[in-house]
Amino acid sequence: MSGQSIYQFKARANHSAPVIGGSLYLWGGDQPDLPEVHDSPQKRKLTSTVETFSFSSARWSSHLTRGTPPLGVNGYSCTTFRSNIYYYAGWCGHDNCFYNSLNVLNTLTMSWTQLHPNDESRMKKASVGMLSMEFEGTDYLFMVGGLGTTPAVKHPQFQYDQLKDRRVLTNEQLLYNLSNGQFTIPSVTGQCCLPTSEFTINKISQNKGILFGGAVTNDGLATTTNKVYIFNVTHNTIHWESLKKGSISGEGLWPKERYNHASAIINGDSTSPALVVIGGLGNKNQLMNECLLFDDITTGQFSCKKIPLPESVTGRYFHSLTAVTMSPHCVWLVIVGGCEELLWKDVGGGVEKPMHTFITDTNRLTMIYELIYIEAADKFHDNETVKSEKLEEVLKVQAQLQEKQIITG
Ligand SMILES: [Zn+2]
Repeated sequence: MSGQSIYQFKARANHSAPVIGGSLYLWGGDQPDLPEVHDSPQKRKLTSTVETFSFSSARWSSHLTRGTPPLGVNGYSCTTFRSNIYYYAGWCGHDNCFYNSLNVLNTLTMSWTQLHPNDESRMKKASVGMLSMEFEGTDYLFMVGGLGTTPAVKHPQFQYDQLKDRRVLTNEQLLYNLSNGQFTIPSVTGQCCLPTSEFTINKISQNKGILFGGAVTNDGLATTTNKVYIFNVTHNTIHWESLKKGSISGEGLWPKERYNHASAIINGDSTSPALVVIGGLGNKNQLMNECLLFDDITTGQFSCKKIPLPESVTGRYFHSLTAVTMSPHCVWLVIVGGCEELLWKDVGGGVEKPMHTFITDTNRLTMIYELIYIEAADKFHDNETVKSEKLEEVLKVQAQLQEKQIITG
């Protein structure tokens, strides 16, 4: 698919776009040509394709993978470890068909390996949170939450809330030891998160993470939350802390409820990590047209402010957000795909089905926003909005970046 013509996928939603080396990797997610079936040659064709975005050429290209990709293509969870991308769980794309398999894509060979099959040993779900974490020299994948079907085995330390449509929301947690390939069910202490799906989760240190927002249950119905949790992984215990209102300073602002938003951690050279949150849907399924920056998240002096980004960037949900450090002074936020409108369609019998409208405007499919780190201010400064996707525009951005580096240098 490479060559002279500029390759561009049509639309993508409910996906992740992790970065390894100098490229973003985009696998699966919902897309216009994805058949709503368990398995088919067309589905296999799409799931055996990975798109990569190279930061040096500012181009997307399409790659065929080797081996067998997972079928839980929608709302999977995803994290990187070294040159590997781990994919866990996901929704098949039809009915209530959820997965719990764990697969890895080796980005050096572009080949898939299944680490754990789709089976009945654990809850099958989508919209789970997953991070790679390290504790005392051992590397783990940590999984939390999600929406799925009633599991055969329920663990007493977790909650499994059934919705009126029979699907189940959970706060179930798992640890997968990357050295020995074993799953363990951790114990939890502190104020554990509620059963939640469609939240965001990010790593703020080797064994510490932050969880924000999502869908929770209220009397059998799904509703949205604005809770912020910090958690620690130690041995076989996850310790949770729920941030209290009032513990966030800056503009007197506590963020509003949202789900299906996207977030990323930005790490300055000499600052504590900051969390950026873009888009999502609010408590009435309205678009959350905003970009939030949570600063000082490891110091206890938590602050939150809005970064004024255009609606063309923020007015979306089911999108991905990836933070890429371009230089010690510059971070790119890369926003890919998503949907721009959610409508509920009556499919008869009093049942309403969500209808999502993909973002297909090529000017909005891939957008890059540049954050410039100001040395003296000790903060990230929302210096400039950079519209992309016209790929020439991305190249222009890079030219501007060079100039800025010279100026700051
Ligand atoms: Zn299926």
